[in-house]
Amino acid sequence: MNIPNYVAAVIGALENAGYEAYVVGGCVRDALSGKVPHDYDVATSALPEETKRSMGGLKVVETGIKHGTVTVISEGRQVEVTTYRIDGDYRDGRHPESVSFTRSLEEDLARRDFTVNGMAYGRGVLVDIFGGQDDLKSGVIRCIGAPEKRFSEDALRIMRALRFSAVLGFEIEENTARHAVESRRLLKKVSAERILAELKQLIRGKDAERVLRQFPEIFSEIIPELAPEIGFEQHSRYHDSALYEHSVRAVGAVKEALNGTGAEYDEKTETALGLAMLLHDCGKVHCRSFGEDGEGHYYGHANISAEIADGVLRRLKCSNADRERICGIIKYHDLPIELSGRFLRRQLSKHGELLRDIIVAHIADDMAKREFCRDRIPQYYEALKKVSAIEAEKPCLTVKELAVNGNDLKELLPPSPELGRVLKELLAEVIDGRLENKRIALIKRAAELTERGGFV
Ligand code: ATP
Ligand code: MG
Repeated sequence: MNIPNYVAAVIGALENAGYEAYVVGGCVRDALSGKVPHDYDVATSALPEETKRSMGGLKVVETGIKHGTVTVISEGRQVEVTTYRIDGDYRDGRHPESVSFTRSLEEDLARRDFTVNGMAYGRGVLVDIFGGQDDLKSGVIRCIGAPEKRFSEDALRIMRALRFSAVLGFEIEENTARHAVESRRLLKKVSAERILAELKQLIRGKDAERVLRQFPEIFSEIIPELAPEIGFEQHSRYHDSALYEHSVRAVGAVKEALNGTGAEYDEKTETALGLAMLLHDCGKVHCRSFGEDGEGHYYGHANISAEIADGVLRRLKCSNADRERICGIIKYHDLPIELSGRFLRRQLSKHGELLRDIIVAHIADDMAKREFCRDRIPQYYEALKKVSAIEAEKPCLTVKELAVNGNDLKELLPPSPELGRVLKELLAEVIDGRLENKRIALIKRAAELTERGGFV
């Protein structure tokens, strides 16, 4: 395993002072599977005070001293150094009552969650007491120790198991999986923020679809609004699966839908679309009706789903910006998309950036329906292209971008709600291509509109 210099410097300083020091956890796991670790955690036999004294000229910040963690700044980068520790009782299933430090690496590794996260590396030697390497090779998430005990100590580990399974594409070992399901009620004790942080990573994992399908009970524990979707028959010619399965497939389709655009996208976009697809139809169970032909209809379900999702995301302590984005996607996930410039300009004016997400959501949604629904997908990609072309023209899409403002029209109208309405009408006509966004033309048209006085 290759350890970068800035980390080796920290380990070297601890060793020179007579202590043990190893890189541990996620970085060992990632390095052994050929990935570049995103950060390096060091575990040491030195007590925090001893670590501080050993660091010579390196800056040390006390970031989690209660849990034995200090952060060392080495070559301008951060390395978390944590004293070997044993976690005390977890009486509330959330935080250890107390942590005690130990001089034994084995004891420190034993408190870690999964075998693949329980390895250490130092002085050219891999310390692997729990079979982490084997599990890494065969792609297995397995608790260190008895799963029922480990999940009752800290129920967040249930979500972590599912997250690693989705992100790494690993199966959860049978006994671990069974106890994750059986212990799911304990998730109530875990803070919403921590659950959401795991869910956000999980949802864009390459195996999110499999994990969502495999553990419906756990997902309905953290989001009870999903429970009625399970086994809910849609009675629709567009669908060949029950509602939960459709949502799960739609989540799984997000990557393919985004890749098909040919444009780059960021993790935030993928996460927002993933969560939107998970929740996009949750309102359907509240508004099913049947036509005379037995076909299921779900009038208004997008609005209802958006309202329910809003509640879910508030409860999970999602940020306002993310919540609004996700609920916006859900609210308009079934907006009929037309290809005309006029339609797309209007929608772009109304939704801005969100319009792309909305169209990608249509694609993921159709990918999760009966095969024939895919016929519409090329049109959605076409719409996305047109949206890009429209944006490249930098058209006027907001009142602010009009070539006149309230001041220009003050001869015609004093500041008033009426003035606002005139400006809005000018904008609508500009967007539709019925009026040029030029000062003279706009003032002339504003005069016509005020003479007619007809917006009230
Ligand atoms: P990544 O940072 O890539 O998400 P990671 O494995 O580094 O994965 P972290 O949350 O950074 O995960 O935790 C670092 C290490 O601490 C883990 O590898 C694991 O050994 C241990 N750990 C983290 N959370 C827990 C937990 N809830 N219970 C037991 N051990 C944990
Ligand atoms: Mg980490």
